[in-house]
Amino acid sequence: MATTRNNAAQRVEDTFADDVFTLKVMQQRLPKDVFKQIQRTIQHGEPLNPSIADVVASAMKEWASEHGATHYTHWFQPLTGLTAEKHDAFLVPDGQGGAISEFTGSALVQGEPDASSFPSGGIRATFEARGYTAWDCTSPVFLNRNGGTVTLCIPTAFVSWTGEALDKKTPLLRSIEAVSAQALRILKIFGTDQGVTRVQATLGCEQEYFLIDRDLFFKREDLVTCDRSVFGAKPAKGQQLEDHYFGSIPTRVLGFMAETERELYRLGVPVKTRHNEVAPCQFEIAPLFEMANIAADHQMVLMETLKRVAPRYGLQCILHEKPFAGINGSGKHLNWSIATNTGVNLLDPRDDTHTNMQFLTFLVGVIKAVDTHADLLRASVASAANDHRLGANEAPPAIMSIFLGDMLTDIIEQIESGSPKSTMKGGKLDLGARTLPQIPRHSGDRNRTSPFAFTGNKFEFRAVGSSAAVAWPATVLNTIVADALDSIATQLEKDLGKNYDEKKLQSVVRNLLQKLVKQHKRVLFDGDGYTTEWHQEAARRGLPNYRESVAAFETITAKKNIEIFKKFKVLSKVEVESRAHILIEKYVKQVEIEALTAASIARTQILPAAGRYQTELAEIVAATEAADVDASENREALEQYAEVVNNLRGCIANLESAVHHESGDVHDHAAHIRDHVRPALGELRQVVDDLETRIPRDLWPIPTYREMLLIK
Ligand code: ADP
Ligand code: MG
Repeated sequence: MATTRNNAAQRVEDTFADDVFTLKVMQQRLPKDVFKQIQRTIQHGEPLNPSIADVVASAMKEWASEHGATHYTHWFQPLTGLTAEKHDAFLVPDGQGGAISEFTGSALVQGEPDASSFPSGGIRATFEARGYTAWDCTSPVFLNRNGGTVTLCIPTAFVSWTGEALDKKTPLLRSIEAVSAQALRILKIFGTDQGVTRVQATLGCEQEYFLIDRDLFFKREDLVTCDRSVFGAKPAKGQQLEDHYFGSIPTRVLGFMAETERELYRLGVPVKTRHNEVAPCQFEIAPLFEMANIAADHQMVLMETLKRVAPRYGLQCILHEKPFAGINGSGKHLNWSIATNTGVNLLDPRDDTHTNMQFLTFLVGVIKAVDTHADLLRASVASAANDHRLGANEAPPAIMSIFLGDMLTDIIEQIESGSPKSTMKGGKLDLGARTLPQIPRHSGDRNRTSPFAFTGNKFEFRAVGSSAAVAWPATVLNTIVADALDSIATQLEKDLGKNYDEKKLQSVVRNLLQKLVKQHKRVLFDGDGYTTEWHQEAARRGLPNYRESVAAFETITAKKNIEIFKKFKVLSKVEVESRAHILIEKYVKQVEIEALTAASIARTQILPAAGRYQTELAEIVAATEAADVDASENREALEQYAEVVNNLRGCIANLESAVHHESGDVHDHAAHIRDHVRPALGELRQVVDDLETRIPRDLWPIPTYREMLLIK
């Protein structure tokens, strides 16, 4: 059966996606039986038949060449958090010392990039360099146009010679399998699995970003090196007038947005929404949701496209979570749901009771998942950059809790009390389900302060950072939900036995849901997540609160977490440990680079400027005294100022000594960075920002916040 969702995606592809090797293009260019086989793999997750690879590769090359492509690349998501590509021409030796233009099935299916320079988190030594990329045909092949060249990009998974995943795609695909298998068991229990071969996670990612003038960007070593300003005094006008959010889009920016969207459409990314965000110069772009694996690839393409198009408009796109202090940072709302291949969104509250029970089971499954694995979910969004946002009264707190809204909260309460209303027959209230149709499908309630909110027919995970690759948080989400559904399905299967009727089903499910709600309701919270009361309340409820990343990272390798990744074959113990290692290492390196950059700007730009002004002040004192005028106030100002400059010198030295820290152990090193380097960076910043308000503008060596944020 065709689905509404698939139809919608198809239409967009057929209309816009000129640079995508779509199913439709394949249908036109491949022999019928080959097309059928590849379609079965893409749409129903059947294993890829290797014997068709040559035919597909040749059609692909022909199509790509007609579009101007000269090279192909296996495109993958290594653990750097970026994408990787190594281009090869469509050339093979002809065996007689010449070359012919060809693209073989084996070149399509498998690549062999040198894996030694990608992070592996200790899985392998550099001399064991072999790594493989494997074609992921579930994500469409596309053309990358850049600098007048066209390259055929083949989405791939990246694994080591020993078979361990070295990328973000492989575990994502495995987690999709896991959640699919467990969700299918629930559907089977409810008898709603007819025609359903797969359950797919769906993702829609809202991307926030900043745009600033590119000339100014290049004058700021910190922005160029760290994508974040390490200094900058607060401008008189920040976001306090709230006049930017949803305001009319500046002309230059709109031009940029439209061109970005055109490029994304060509690549099959269905972008839908554009608007100004809260902070000055902050904007948002949001595509329609897609299958999780495709959405995750498209998210990477989207970030790269934003970055690539901006310079054509004299702009720089900044994806960092906190590029400017004192105004909002950027996040990426990860909208997540699960849907059958027949187009049923399993988190969509439905009208009839039977399906409502099923919906409530999935809902309670997610609640159980988030409560049980709050630590892992928190860790999935941890990074040095996101530390500036989470819990800083602009983004949800680091405490993972779920917002349900009034209607669902009421129903959950009814389930919990198991009240007679819920068990009454005759169509009054059947487990509160009769109230369900009143649930607005697009819930009107908003609660910006909740990290994990039910928004009508999906959950919105709002703690994800703007620069993050969504594959990892999506992998965690799929895995923890798979775990919860597994335990629910196991319990239900046991309690129901082989033969059961509708009545028994209802009562068994009701009993289990009641038990689970009692067990996990502590994770539900609809109030203001920014308040200190909530922090105290959350502590009383025993909810974990990992305020910063280092503590969060340490939880990834907890026994419970290694177990669930292993259980659902998403990641082996070694793979989990390597990922945790890479995340911590990246944290260390990022903050180190920030610290070194700050020290360098302070020593080579700020300090000299401060010295020049000190000379000016001293000259004023000398000239005033020479003129036989009372210079005592000038002298006092000079003395005060000289003290600030001395303080600056001290802070630079402090930071430099904090950052030069030798540590063999990455965990100790991260703790040192958190406890010593970051505070020293903060102290230096205070002094520099203070100096910015004292030193004459013509002597201040770097663009100010006012200039960067108010020029549109
Ligand atoms: P908002 O008001 O937060 O912008 P929208 O309803 O516009 O909410 O949705 C935001 C994002 O959620 C979009 O990318 C949208 O496609 C996505 N979304 C909607 N439904 C689903 C779903 N079932 N699964 C995943 N993402 C979804
Ligand atoms: Mg949103």
